Amino acid sequence: MKSFVLKQPGVVGWHNSPEPVLDDYGAILRPIAVTPCSSDVHLVFGGGSPKEPNLILGHESIAEVISVGQNVRDFKAGDRVAVPAITPDWHEKSIAEGNLAHAGKPFSGHQFGRTSPGVFAERYFVPDADMNLAKIPQGVTDEQALMCVDVMTTGFTGAENAGIKIGSTVCVFGIGPIGLMAVAGARLLGAGRIFAVGSRPNCVELAKQYGATDILNYKTDDIKETILSQTGGIGVDSVIIAGGNNDVLALAYDIVRYGIGTISNINYLSGTGFVQLPIFSGGRGMCGKTLNMELAKGGRARIERLLDMVKYGRIDPSPLVTHKLKGLEQVENALCMMRDKTDGVIKVMVECF
Ligand code: NAP
Ligand code: ZN
Repeated sequence: MKSFVLKQPGVVGWHNSPEPVLDDYGAILRPIAVTPCSSDVHLVFGGGSPKEPNLILGHESIAEVISVGQNVRDFKAGDRVAVPAITPDWHEKSIAEGNLAHAGKPFSGHQFGRTSPGVFAERYFVPDADMNLAKIPQGVTDEQALMCVDVMTTGFTGAENAGIKIGSTVCVFGIGPIGLMAVAGARLLGAGRIFAVGSRPNCVELAKQYGATDILNYKTDDIKETILSQTGGIGVDSVIIAGGNNDVLALAYDIVRYGIGTISNINYLSGTGFVQLPIFSGGRGMCGKTLNMELAKGGRARIERLLDMVKYGRIDPSPLVTHKLKGLEQVENALCMMRDKTDGVIKVMVECF
């Protein structure tokens, strides 16, 4: 079976991988469309923990069900499904404590293209199909469904973890696909003023459409000075970090409110050392500022709720798909386009057949 794999750090290529094996609760799928994530770019080109040789990459897909295990109740061959990027391990005890992302061990929910074969292949296996596949409602397009499985759920996770209330002031660092959905999530949660930080013109336009009221350019603007002066010196209620380098975390401390401010990080921290927290705006450890850092929410129920939001017109994530390529073999090009961000790329959708 043809698959797109990580051969060694920084080196990708095509491989003849073994066919996926079905179990009683899982499903075998064939991808209808896939899209590389910035996380794939980090995984391939940015280092990280050692991976299995010839690991099949990818975790964002919609698919057709080919076969299901004998105990699967809600899905059958031929169904068109959205496949959550995060597939919690429903057999782990701490699932019952609400720990979907890290039940049993850190990042246990992030299986595809990390600890299990990913979705950039002719066929792939998903465990616990009744809990880890999402039905795509009538009227939701392939583009929209594909944007729900990771990008939308991640951006919304960032917003949900930021303590946003009706009328909150929010700053979103990064307006790539994830940050744009964080802007949209903040607006849906009731944010009043939303500062969005980025520079690429088409992302700026979309940020405005999704709810940003103020655009700041990290290349030319003094973010700290502007936010503080625009908020009467007190800063914003919430910061969502969805882009930038590790220093953004310190900046977030500088611009979030004392006592009630919340920082929500969904950004990938690079390297292996430490991040710096400012002692002064951290109130010497007593600032009353909350920091949340989390993986995206996943699983069936989450993604079906997001698909419903699309169906009922609360949000349309399809403008994030700026480029479409045809044929699974184009996934290599798509990954490079995501890395290089040329030609106004936000997300590249690869239609597999
Ligand atoms: P992206 O397309 O690379 O977008 C990054 C954004 O950050 C761009 O808008 C970029 O601005 C902006 N930026 C760059 N440097 C900055 C700085 N110094 N200050 C402020 N903004 C800056 O990435 P993405 O696909 O949206 O993903 C964002 C992050 O989420 C990545 O780190 C990814 O790995 C992570 N992620 C996390 C999860 C999770 O589960 N937590 C899931 C998926 C992805 P320009 O306009 O200049 O390009
Ligand atoms: Zn991802």
